[in-house]
Amino acid sequence: MSWLDLPAGTGFGLTNLPYGVFSTSGTARRTGVAVGDSVLDLAAATGDPVHATGSLNGFMAQGPGAWAALRQRLLEWLTDPAHRDAVEPHLVPRSEVTMHLPVEVADYVDFYSSQHHAENLGRMFRPDSPPLTPNWKHLPIGYHGRSGTVAVSGTPVVRPWGQRKPVDGDPVLGASQRLDIEAEVGFLVGVGSPLGTPVPLADFEQHVFGVCLVNDWSARDLQSWEYVPLGPFLGKSFLTSVAPWVVPLAALEHARVPPPVRDPQPLPYLRDDDHPWGLDIELQVRLNGELLSRPPFREMYWTPAQQLAHMTVNGASLRTGDLFASGTVSGRGRDERGSFIELSWGGTEPIGLQDGTTRTFLEDGDVVTLTASAPGPDGTVIAFGEVTGRIEPAR
Ligand code: MN
Repeated sequence: MSWLDLPAGTGFGLTNLPYGVFSTSGTARRTGVAVGDSVLDLAAATGDPVHATGSLNGFMAQGPGAWAALRQRLLEWLTDPAHRDAVEPHLVPRSEVTMHLPVEVADYVDFYSSQHHAENLGRMFRPDSPPLTPNWKHLPIGYHGRSGTVAVSGTPVVRPWGQRKPVDGDPVLGASQRLDIEAEVGFLVGVGSPLGTPVPLADFEQHVFGVCLVNDWSARDLQSWEYVPLGPFLGKSFLTSVAPWVVPLAALEHARVPPPVRDPQPLPYLRDDDHPWGLDIELQVRLNGELLSRPPFREMYWTPAQQLAHMTVNGASLRTGDLFASGTVSGRGRDERGSFIELSWGGTEPIGLQDGTTRTFLEDGDVVTLTASAPGPDGTVIAFGEVTGRIEPAR
């Protein structure tokens, strides 16, 4: 129980305590923790300069011991009335804060780990072949993205220009006509690793600090023309949006679930029987406020622990601030799809909206908002904040 007046059913209760970087009018960026409708100013409350740097990187680099110690301290502060007088002055109403990009993103990797998503796209793009490529069940497929264009929720989504090829014509340069989302979950590395040394799957918790929602905006027309043979490039790199709140891994202990059965068994470095990191996170995709789908993260074929093991098996080093995202989260059902290309089946089945209009891909002025929730202990809910963006006309 907290001496704080927490709203009933809040996803920002004491079992969550997500970290972010905030400012108020005329003040510097600093680290805060969301609790109820407030942000606890950690720079002021702790006096520790690591929380006054304007990013979470310094704290994330300190490792699991420091993460656990601060989490324990926060719980004591917010539950023991003896701390109330010292802590309460450092609570700021969430309505008064501006949220910023929570981390300096080092490297950015994006995976492709939903079997439903991969099969849907395979059926659309390669109708005469098996929906999954031969490698798909042997390794978590991914690509390196552009960390410099990862931005915080609310950043305008300027419709990208690029080269695309009409079915019956020569390539043209122009504004994307097939602008899409990818509803994803991202994982942030706190503790790096030395070059040349793989990180075993069992060490996941020694390196990964927390989890944030990701929208991997995608221009499908640019992507489909450019991606052979080296993979996604400009169809993705114009913007990747992340939620401002980073949910600590420790807050998701209660949400851990067994991952799907893998058939065939992956190679030993990807076997996770002793370290299952399936997570029961339900995402919600809204267009202009209307709920379109609820992608289930628990069905992801490859877990973040397997992704981490795979992305370092060649000896690639990790750095504080590395972000790796899950890939589009899609479930089996039509109302569980995490992209418009799936929801509209490649644009052939327009989505009917409550306002009477239809969509295949995004139009200027559209606002897409992703949210998510996971079960916490004792019936509590773990919320992830939101990642939102409004489509602006091409410039
Ligand atoms: Mn993606």
